[in-house]
Amino acid sequence: MPEATEKMDPADLTALGAALSADEILVQRTVRAFVDERVLPSIESWFENGIFPRELVAELGRLGVLGMHLQGYGCAGAGAVSYGLACLELEAGDSGFRSFVSVQGSLAMFPIWKYGSEEQKRRFLPPMAAGDMVGCFGLTEPDVGSDPASMRSRARREGRDWVLDGRKRWVTNGSIADVAVIWAQTEEGIRGFLVPRGTRGFSAAEIRGKLSLRASVSSEVTLDSCRLPDENVLPGVAGLRGPLSCLNEARYGIVWGALGAARACYETALSYALKREQFGKPVASFQLTQAKLADMAVELEKGLLLAYHLGRLKEAGTLTPDQVSLGKLNSTREALDIARSARTILGANGVTLDYPVIRHAANLESVLTYEGTAEVHQLTIGRALTGLSAFN
Ligand SMILES: Cc1cc2nc3c(=O)[nH]c(=O)nc-3n(C[C@H](O)[C@H](O)[C@H](O)COP(=O)(O)OP(=O)(O)OC[C@H]3O[C@@H](n4cnc5c(N)ncnc54)[C@H](O)[C@@H]3O)c2cc1C
Repeated sequence: MPEATEKMDPADLTALGAALSADEILVQRTVRAFVDERVLPSIESWFENGIFPRELVAELGRLGVLGMHLQGYGCAGAGAVSYGLACLELEAGDSGFRSFVSVQGSLAMFPIWKYGSEEQKRRFLPPMAAGDMVGCFGLTEPDVGSDPASMRSRARREGRDWVLDGRKRWVTNGSIADVAVIWAQTEEGIRGFLVPRGTRGFSAAEIRGKLSLRASVSSEVTLDSCRLPDENVLPGVAGLRGPLSCLNEARYGIVWGALGAARACYETALSYALKREQFGKPVASFQLTQAKLADMAVELEKGLLLAYHLGRLKEAGTLTPDQVSLGKLNSTREALDIARSARTILGANGVTLDYPVIRHAANLESVLTYEGTAEVHQLTIGRALTGLSAFN
């Protein structure tokens, strides 16, 4: 019988930690400590009862993770790898928290930061970075998902005002948002509108019966002749590239985030397998279990190396949307596989909320679908490889 060899650090087989700067390690440790203290003790009950704890938003603001990759206006101005590590640690807690941070920072704050007027930036970004104001992003509609160019929501000019009509669905944070970034067709192409809570004709109803991302608010938003002054339109962009550039920012966070959920599942399966005994020995000692653990570790480490590489490209300013698609597709698909495989190692216990695995697996079904489905990213990569679009 071979002797047990010296164990490698099961959380860092490729020694990626050695490539991180002291600041990046500090960000990772700080966010991890926050998740350990403020998220993990209550997440099962929030998930089971379908609660997003609104009271933690200000704490996320104080932690500095809201819009942390943006410069100025109260934002932390962190590098892409630091931002990625924060997403990873948040999603190791629950995808709902990383989703909140992605929507706030990349889908609501980023368009204001990138395309907003100076007045809009000063008005919205500091309170959003502090967690005093919540944002949301309305692109998807009841009949329009992967093909946002065919959206039906419209905005027309009336004198100096705009009047918006339409419906948006699956809007994360919709019913708790203080300001909604709503994308609508206009005569000048698709434009972004800042719709403050309380605007007459704006309403948001929470979507019930969701069995994934239960600790996150998803809403259906109705815009019924919403009148807005001209200063509420984002002046810096017209056309689909506006919302697509925001999605690209958010997808980058998912490249890292999904691997956080995967890491939590892998670590849970490893520790469970070492303790759980069947046939008189730990299930970790069976070759079939070790094969599963090894495959999980291989995909997790490959995913992290890819995320790290994409992060450094983003910091250098050369990251392309096709590369982000590659990372989003890989991380979400492999994270879901890792979660499902981890679930089998836990046997029946794996289907309960006593362990985080089934919760992460259920959450990852949404993460695979939102911000461009797995199929949409396959088509994006296919188009980059062949030069031929298979979208329509
Ligand atoms: C929990 C959650 C939160 C979300 N948050 C937000 C949010 O904050 N804001 C927002 O605007 N949206 C949000 N979304 C919506 C999300 O982005 C959409 O669900 C996603 O874009 C897919 O659209 P769809 O669900 O309408 O699927 P569809 O577009 O109807 O697709 C159905 C199926 O057809 C496939 N398909 C579509 N087109 C093609 C094609 N050309 N070739 C091959 N296959 C294709 C898809 O891959 C999928 O498998 C959220 C969704 C979820 C689940």
